[in-house]
Amino acid sequence: MKEIILIKDGEIVLKGLNRRQFEDVLKKNIRIALQGLGSFAITSAQSTIAVKPLGDDIDLDEACARIGRVFGIVSFSRAALCEEKSMESVLATAPVYLEKQLRAAKTFKVEAKRSDKKFPLKSPEICRELGGVILSKYRHLTVDVHHPDVTVYVEIRDHGAYVHADPIRGAGGIPVGTGGKAVVLISGGIDSPVAAYMMAKRGVKLTAVHFASPPYTAMRAEEKVVRLLQKVSRYAMPMTMYTVPFTKIQEKLRDDCPEELFTIIMRRLMMEIAQRIARDHDCAALITGESLGQVASQTIGALNCTDDAADMVVFRPLIGMDKQEIINIAYQIDTYETSIEPYEDCCTVFTPRHPRTKPILKFVKAAQEKAGFEPLIEEALQNLKITQIYPED
Ligand code: ATP
Ligand code: MG
Repeated sequence: MKEIILIKDGEIVLKGLNRRQFEDVLKKNIRIALQGLGSFAITSAQSTIAVKPLGDDIDLDEACARIGRVFGIVSFSRAALCEEKSMESVLATAPVYLEKQLRAAKTFKVEAKRSDKKFPLKSPEICRELGGVILSKYRHLTVDVHHPDVTVYVEIRDHGAYVHADPIRGAGGIPVGTGGKAVVLISGGIDSPVAAYMMAKRGVKLTAVHFASPPYTAMRAEEKVVRLLQKVSRYAMPMTMYTVPFTKIQEKLRDDCPEELFTIIMRRLMMEIAQRIARDHDCAALITGESLGQVASQTIGALNCTDDAADMVVFRPLIGMDKQEIINIAYQIDTYETSIEPYEDCCTVFTPRHPRTKPILKFVKAAQEKAGFEPLIEEALQNLKITQIYPED
């Protein structure tokens, strides 16, 4: 039996004039998500995108799993394509295609949608006929139109007749690439991969920046960040990661700045460097995984000092979330287990014993200027390491 995936797009519907453009991006993202699984025809008509496998040996379970992670999709259905657009074909297809679901259910109903008005039967007639055939084949079933265990959907569209069970919930959000571009500051922790995921969900195309301080931080720590991003990119699409060599800057911090300001000046330097990378790559925002009050560098006072180092808008999607809420999302996107692997982050080397929780901006700036980081920033930017990130299979 030939199968197809029917996709309902999400907030796109709200976008009026831009709808076409949004749909084109969504289709492109679906194509990228399906890469490596074989070839598909991806077409849109009647506010539905149809993904049709062009070959018999395509893994549709995997295709559905991947489509379930593409932002901009509210729900989708794996459906059988009836051999012809006729009632006979619908009657022959539905009871066979949905056998497993129908056997497991006690009650069912049929719902028909007829967008091809030339089809000889009207929707209620389709429901009645198919309902009768299902009842005669599966004698344990009864009809329940209010709370059925299974709903059998019949869609008579311009391009064919389809049968499917209840739709599968999509990832929601809006298509990546329709919300502008931003740099995400990514550590190996729990929070920043979740922050990246959340902004990608709002359509933002990501570029990742990671600060590494070898030999204080291990190569394994950087590899861990790559693995985290591979997981994030299953939702956020392929992206480029820039690794900033941060050792000399951190050593200078340690040697030339007051200890209680280490962290805050380091955070400012991270923002400054990330912003320059952002500008070079046409990104107009920064994203961090900060959450208010989580650590000394995430108080309102500290965040004011950090923000001052960046001219562009800084998104902190986790700012009002509890750790447990963040962890729940990390589980959901499968980054948690990787995040808790124990490697040092550059934030945890040279940590002050008593960081300032209420740093005063003018003193912070003065200390930073006195040390003079510009030549080292330039040097770091000349020596960025580039890694292309693709979704983990
Ligand atoms: P995470 O779990 O994301 O590591 P955290 O709670 O440990 O966050 P911090 O270490 O203070 O918090 O870092 C705050 C934010 O700064 C991170 O969410 C991330 O956006 C950014 N950041 C921290 N370390 C790095 C790094 N090595 N490279 C790039 N960005 C970093
Ligand atoms: Mg961290």
